[in-house]
Amino acid sequence: MSRPPFEPFTAQDIDTVSAQLGRQARDVVGIAARCVCGAPTVVATAPRLADGTPFPTTYYLCHPGATAAISFLEANQVMNEYNQLLADDEEVRAAYARAHESFLADRAVLGDVPEIAGISSGGMPERVKCLHALAGHALAAGPGVNPIGDLALARANWSPDVCVCIDYTAQDSTAANSTATDTTTA
Ligand SMILES: [Zn+2]
Repeated sequence: MSRPPFEPFTAQDIDTVSAQLGRQARDVVGIAARCVCGAPTVVATAPRLADGTPFPTTYYLCHPGATAAISFLEANQVMNEYNQLLADDEEVRAAYARAHESFLADRAVLGDVPEIAGISSGGMPERVKCLHALAGHALAAGPGVNPIGDLALARANWSPDVCVCIDYTAQDSTAANSTATDTTTA
Protein backbone atom coordinates (compact mmCIF):
# COMPACT_ATOMS: atom_id res chain seq x y z
CA MET A 1 0.00 0.00 0.00
CA SER A 2 1.19 3.46 -0.73
CA ARG A 3 -0.09 7.01 -0.68
CA PRO A 4 1.34 10.17 -2.21
CA PRO A 5 4.06 11.11 -2.61
CA PHE A 6 4.65 7.75 -4.30
CA GLU A 7 7.85 5.78 -4.68
CA PRO A 8 9.43 5.92 -8.14
CA PHE A 9 8.05 3.37 -10.58
CA THR A 10 9.55 1.70 -13.63
CA ALA A 11 8.80 1.50 -17.33
CA GLN A 12 7.99 -2.16 -16.70
CA ASP A 13 5.32 -1.10 -14.19
CA ILE A 14 3.72 1.03 -16.90
CA ASP A 15 3.95 -1.83 -19.40
CA THR A 16 2.29 -4.18 -16.91
CA VAL A 17 -0.51 -1.73 -16.08
CA SER A 18 -1.07 -1.13 -19.80
CA ALA A 19 -1.31 -4.89 -20.40
CA GLN A 20 -3.68 -5.24 -17.43
CA LEU A 21 -5.93 -2.46 -18.70
CA GLY A 22 -5.68 -3.43 -22.36
CA ARG A 23 -4.75 0.13 -23.29
CA GLN A 24 -1.80 2.43 -22.80
CA ALA A 25 -1.67 3.66 -19.21
CA ARG A 26 -1.39 7.46 -19.17
CA ASP A 27 -0.77 10.15 -16.61
CA VAL A 28 0.42 7.61 -14.07
CA VAL A 29 1.88 9.20 -10.93
CA GLY A 30 2.51 6.06 -8.92
CA ILE A 31 1.78 2.43 -8.17
CA ALA A 32 -0.42 2.61 -5.09
CA ALA A 33 -0.59 -1.11 -4.34
CA ARG A 34 1.04 -4.29 -5.56
CA CYS A 35 0.53 -8.04 -5.55
CA VAL A 36 2.93 -10.09 -3.40
CA CYS A 37 4.80 -10.78 -6.66
CA GLY A 38 5.32 -7.06 -7.22
CA ALA A 39 2.84 -6.60 -10.07
CA PRO A 40 0.74 -3.44 -9.76
CA THR A 41 -2.78 -3.89 -8.41
CA VAL A 42 -3.73 -0.21 -8.07
CA VAL A 43 -2.46 2.53 -10.34
CA ALA A 44 -2.51 6.15 -9.22
CA THR A 45 -3.39 8.73 -11.84
CA ALA A 46 -2.84 12.49 -11.87
CA PRO A 47 -5.87 14.55 -10.85
CA ARG A 48 -5.58 16.41 -14.13
CA LEU A 49 -4.73 14.44 -17.25
CA ALA A 50 -2.20 15.73 -19.76
CA ASP A 51 -5.06 16.78 -22.07
CA GLY A 52 -6.48 18.95 -19.27
CA THR A 53 -9.35 16.68 -18.24
CA PRO A 54 -10.00 16.59 -14.47
CA PHE A 55 -9.67 13.03 -13.18
CA PRO A 56 -11.16 12.37 -9.74
CA THR A 57 -10.47 8.61 -9.57
CA THR A 58 -6.94 8.80 -8.21
CA TYR A 59 -6.81 5.11 -7.27
CA TYR A 60 -7.77 2.68 -10.02
CA LEU A 61 -7.94 -1.05 -9.57
CA CYS A 62 -5.94 -2.37 -12.53
CA HIS A 63 -5.33 -6.03 -11.68
CA PRO A 64 -7.58 -8.27 -13.83
CA GLY A 65 -8.07 -10.83 -11.05
CA ALA A 66 -9.09 -8.10 -8.64
CA THR A 67 -11.42 -6.33 -11.04
CA ALA A 68 -13.12 -9.64 -11.93
CA ALA A 69 -13.63 -10.54 -8.27
CA ILE A 70 -15.07 -7.09 -7.49
CA SER A 71 -17.28 -7.18 -10.60
CA PHE A 72 -18.68 -10.47 -9.30
CA LEU A 73 -19.67 -8.74 -6.05
CA GLU A 74 -21.29 -5.86 -7.93
CA ALA A 75 -23.23 -8.34 -10.07
CA ASN A 76 -24.55 -9.96 -6.90
CA GLN A 77 -26.16 -6.88 -5.37
CA VAL A 78 -23.45 -6.38 -2.78
CA MET A 79 -23.60 -2.60 -3.35
CA ASN A 80 -27.24 -2.59 -2.26
CA GLU A 81 -26.20 -4.35 0.91
CA TYR A 82 -23.45 -1.82 1.62
CA ASN A 83 -25.72 1.14 0.92
CA GLN A 84 -28.13 -0.33 3.45
CA LEU A 85 -25.27 -0.74 5.90
CA LEU A 86 -24.38 2.94 5.46
CA ALA A 87 -27.99 3.87 6.12
CA ASP A 88 -28.24 1.69 9.22
CA ASP A 89 -24.85 1.97 10.88
CA GLU A 90 -23.76 5.37 12.15
CA GLU A 91 -20.19 4.25 12.83
CA VAL A 92 -19.68 2.90 9.33
CA ARG A 93 -21.21 6.06 7.94
CA ALA A 94 -18.79 8.21 9.94
CA ALA A 95 -15.82 6.07 8.93
CA TYR A 96 -16.89 6.32 5.28
CA ALA A 97 -17.06 10.09 5.55
CA ARG A 98 -13.52 10.08 6.99
CA ALA A 99 -12.41 7.87 4.08
CA HIS A 100 -13.74 10.52 1.71
CA GLU A 101 -11.70 13.21 3.46
CA SER A 102 -8.63 10.98 3.49
CA PHE A 103 -8.99 10.35 -0.24
CA LEU A 104 -9.26 14.08 -0.95
CA ALA A 105 -6.20 14.77 1.21
CA ASP A 106 -4.20 12.20 -0.76
CA ARG A 107 -5.26 13.70 -4.06
CA ALA A 108 -4.47 17.23 -2.89
CA VAL A 109 -0.83 16.16 -2.59
CA LEU A 110 -0.89 15.42 -6.33
CA GLY A 111 -2.35 18.73 -7.36
CA ASP A 112 -5.22 21.16 -6.94
CA VAL A 113 -7.99 20.76 -9.51
CA PRO A 114 -10.86 23.13 -8.73
CA GLU A 115 -13.34 21.37 -11.06
CA ILE A 116 -13.35 18.28 -8.85
CA ALA A 117 -12.94 19.95 -5.46
CA GLY A 118 -14.82 17.93 -2.85
CA ILE A 119 -15.55 15.11 -5.30
CA SER A 120 -13.83 11.87 -4.44
CA SER A 121 -14.55 8.45 -5.85
CA GLY A 122 -16.79 5.41 -5.77
CA GLY A 123 -19.78 7.32 -4.40
CA MET A 124 -18.10 8.61 -1.25
CA PRO A 125 -19.04 10.09 1.14
CA GLU A 126 -22.70 9.07 1.16
CA ARG A 127 -23.28 6.31 -1.37
CA VAL A 128 -21.65 3.14 -2.68
CA LYS A 129 -21.52 3.46 -6.46
CA CYS A 130 -18.36 1.65 -7.54
CA LEU A 131 -16.73 -1.09 -5.50
CA HIS A 132 -13.71 -1.10 -7.82
CA ALA A 133 -12.88 2.47 -6.84
CA LEU A 134 -13.47 1.77 -3.15
CA ALA A 135 -11.41 -1.42 -3.18
CA GLY A 136 -8.65 0.46 -4.99
CA HIS A 137 -8.68 3.13 -2.31
CA ALA A 138 -8.65 0.49 0.44
CA LEU A 139 -5.65 -1.27 -1.12
CA ALA A 140 -3.77 2.00 -1.48
CA ALA A 141 -4.56 3.34 1.97
CA GLY A 142 -4.32 0.05 3.84
CA PRO A 143 -6.86 -1.53 6.19
CA GLY A 144 -8.94 0.70 8.45
CA VAL A 145 -9.30 3.72 6.16
CA ASN A 146 -12.12 2.83 3.78
CA PRO A 147 -14.66 0.60 5.56
CA ILE A 148 -16.63 -0.32 2.45
CA GLY A 149 -13.51 -1.01 0.41
CA ASP A 150 -12.21 -3.18 3.25
CA LEU A 151 -15.47 -5.15 3.34
CA ALA A 152 -15.43 -5.67 -0.42
CA LEU A 153 -11.83 -6.91 -0.37
CA ALA A 154 -12.54 -9.26 2.53
CA ARG A 155 -15.43 -10.73 0.59
CA ALA A 156 -13.75 -10.86 -2.81
CA ASN A 157 -12.37 -14.09 -4.16
CA TRP A 158 -9.01 -12.41 -4.73
CA SER A 159 -6.26 -11.19 -2.46
CA PRO A 160 -3.00 -9.33 -3.04
CA ASP A 161 -1.42 -11.91 -0.71
CA VAL A 162 -2.02 -14.79 -3.14
CA CYS A 163 -0.48 -14.23 -6.56
CA VAL A 164 -2.70 -15.19 -9.49
CA CYS A 165 -0.91 -12.94 -11.95
CA ILE A 166 -0.65 -14.05 -15.54
CA ASP A 167 2.39 -13.34 -17.72
CA TYR A 168 1.59 -9.80 -18.77
CA THR A 169 4.29 -9.68 -21.40
CA ALA A 170 4.51 -12.87 -23.44
CA GLN A 171 7.93 -11.92 -24.76
CA ASP A 172 9.40 -11.70 -21.25
CA SER A 173 7.89 -15.02 -20.25
CA THR A 174 9.41 -16.70 -23.31
CA ALA A 175 12.79 -15.28 -22.40
CA ALA A 176 12.45 -16.46 -18.81
CA ASN A 177 11.42 -19.95 -19.94
CA SER A 178 14.29 -20.33 -22.37
CA THR A 179 16.72 -19.19 -19.67
CA ALA A 180 15.31 -21.80 -17.31
CA THR A 181 15.60 -24.47 -20.01
CA ASP A 182 19.21 -23.53 -20.72
CA THR A 183 20.06 -23.77 -17.04
CA THR A 184 18.45 -27.21 -16.80
CA THR A 185 20.32 -28.42 -19.89
CA ALA A 186 23.63 -27.10 -18.58
ZN1 LIG B 1 1.16 -11.45 -8.63
